[in-house]
Amino acid sequence: MVSCHVERPLDDAAWARFDRLQRRRPGGFDVIALMRPPDEEYGESETVWLERARAAAARAPFGLHTHWTSPTHARPTGGDPAERVRRDTLWMRDRGLEPRYFCGGGWYSDDDVRAAVAELGLVDCTPRIGEPSPGTLPTTHSVGALARAVLRPLPGYVHAYFHDYDLLDTRRRAALAAALAVLGRRAAKI
Ligand SMILES: [Zn+2]
Repeated sequence: MVSCHVERPLDDAAWARFDRLQRRRPGGFDVIALMRPPDEEYGESETVWLERARAAAARAPFGLHTHWTSPTHARPTGGDPAERVRRDTLWMRDRGLEPRYFCGGGWYSDDDVRAAVAELGLVDCTPRIGEPSPGTLPTTHSVGALARAVLRPLPGYVHAYFHDYDLLDTRRRAALAAALAVLGRRAAKI
């Protein structure tokens, strides 16, 4: 499986690249958009955000990528992290978006966050290693790790991820497209 941390949903250039990639379904994969709600304190527009999130969610499974501190600072610096996950999820549901997956910003999690994610019925993609288990689909491969992995015997389970801003870099974009094409030929999808 393949997911994208959509870090800059309001950046037109990054969004255009992501939008194009998700439509193209590289390697035959649905690219799961993991998104955080817009942050009003940082002047992010809800209108544009919703338009883009709805387009992404209409094309492929959708998920929540909570940033606890700010658009550019993912990990928590205070407050109740589990409560923020509940708030983000309900905010999306109130607007007709149904996140199925969750990945903590900066790979952060704790016992309360894990419990909230399970209680909300989200599949947790925050762990970086391990096999799928009920309620958990670890995120195993970065773009670089995927590019190396597809040249060797494939592990039984691969969950590749990238960031929307990776797509702004020609070389990274090409590496991702090539690796997903090979992975798509070799893998069964879940
Ligand atoms: Zn992030």
